[in-house]
Amino acid sequence: MRDDHAASVLTDEELEAIRDSVRALCQDFPGEYWRKLDEKREYPTSFVTAMTEAGFLAALIPEEYGGSGLGLKAACAILEEIHLNGCNAGACHAQMYTMGTILKHGSPEQKSDWLPKVASGEIRLQAFGVTEPTSGTDTLSLQTTAVKKGDHYAVNGQKIWTSRAEHSDFMVLLARTTPKEDVQKKGDGLSVLMVDMRDAIKDGMTIRPIRTMMNHATTEVFFDDVNVPAGNLIGEEGKGFRYILDGMNAERTLISAECLGDAQWFIKKATDYACERKVFGNPIGVNQGVQFPIARAYASYRAAALMVKEAATKFDAGEKCAEEANISKMLASEASWEAAEMCVQTFGGFGFAEEYDIERKFRETRLYQVAPVSTNLILAYLGQNVLGLPRSY
Ligand SMILES: Cc1cc2nc3c(=O)[nH]c(=O)nc-3n(C[C@H](O)[C@H](O)[C@H](O)COP(=O)(O)OP(=O)(O)OC[C@H]3O[C@@H](n4cnc5c(N)ncnc54)[C@H](O)[C@@H]3O)c2cc1C
Repeated sequence: MRDDHAASVLTDEELEAIRDSVRALCQDFPGEYWRKLDEKREYPTSFVTAMTEAGFLAALIPEEYGGSGLGLKAACAILEEIHLNGCNAGACHAQMYTMGTILKHGSPEQKSDWLPKVASGEIRLQAFGVTEPTSGTDTLSLQTTAVKKGDHYAVNGQKIWTSRAEHSDFMVLLARTTPKEDVQKKGDGLSVLMVDMRDAIKDGMTIRPIRTMMNHATTEVFFDDVNVPAGNLIGEEGKGFRYILDGMNAERTLISAECLGDAQWFIKKATDYACERKVFGNPIGVNQGVQFPIARAYASYRAAALMVKEAATKFDAGEKCAEEANISKMLASEASWEAAEMCVQTFGGFGFAEEYDIERKFRETRLYQVAPVSTNLILAYLGQNVLGLPRSY
């Protein structure tokens, strides 16, 4: 991931080799593996371990900190390949990009202390605590406070939808350090803290899992006077909102790649089935009412893929890419959903049977139009920030 460390730009052949290795790893985690976990809402520990040991989750960490020093394009290829092989990276994708806040804004000591451990998997940095129940998307109105008391911050408040909190050693937490009414600039007053959850859980932090429509290990987290060492502040106090915004282009582009993987999985399933399944003496795919939605989903996926490639290319070149990352996220999440909907329709009744995995992937891919940012907020960004239309907030 770029900061002052230039990421390696790979050739198409090198990217293909990475895809081959990811594909080979995914063969050990077939639909049955995910179905069993889904039923019990269990965490895919063996998959995450395999991804960690193969080094894929350290793709974006510079080589000097023990990672592979790859760019966003390569990381996108990894996540896309996981999803197009029927697996799901949601259990571990944050280990790839959450460290970007430390890499870009951490002190030299913080980087050399934490990043090699994140790269090796010794530290699981999977939790990202921004969203709160009352403020929702309006991040500047969040209520969790971190008050400096000597050599530590006392954290009080609540986060919601903190995914993977039970499977993480650290959380990147965004909390208010200066009251909203006392800041000069609207975006000031929030700070990023690295919370060691292994300590915090013994000191006032409570995690409550939330059961959702898909297996996502998401939680709500409560802080009751949790002490966080002042040395765990990332960057400057009060500038945390900008640091979090900085990381969003990478996150949105990477999630878009997962959507592209899902879209291809649905399209392949539907295409194969439409060629095999015979009704009224013909393969159902001969009917344009079946064939055209598959073709349309394919066209949507291809168009979204171009935008994801553009976002990742610009990111890797160190160019501004907020517009491209946001458009990617919107188009790719819509393309995966279009493909999911089409796939269920193509399969008819069998689309609802668990053993085909379609209903599971259908539930999983629905998330991306809401998280990590909902489509309306992308449209508002494009309207207000790109096109200069009047602002609603
Ligand atoms: C499974 C899951 C995992 C998640 N993981 C994490 C995580 O790890 N860490 C984390 O911090 N967060 C996480 N989130 C939170 C996620 O990022 C938010 O749910 C998402 O950004 C939407 O915010 P919200 O739910 O608060 O919706 P709200 O902000 O309450 O909005 C509700 C609806 O109103 C619309 N809306 C709101 N304001 C406007 C406006 N001005 N114009 C137009 N429409 C508007 C929104 O688009 C949305 O459709 C997760 C969420 C889910 C469901």
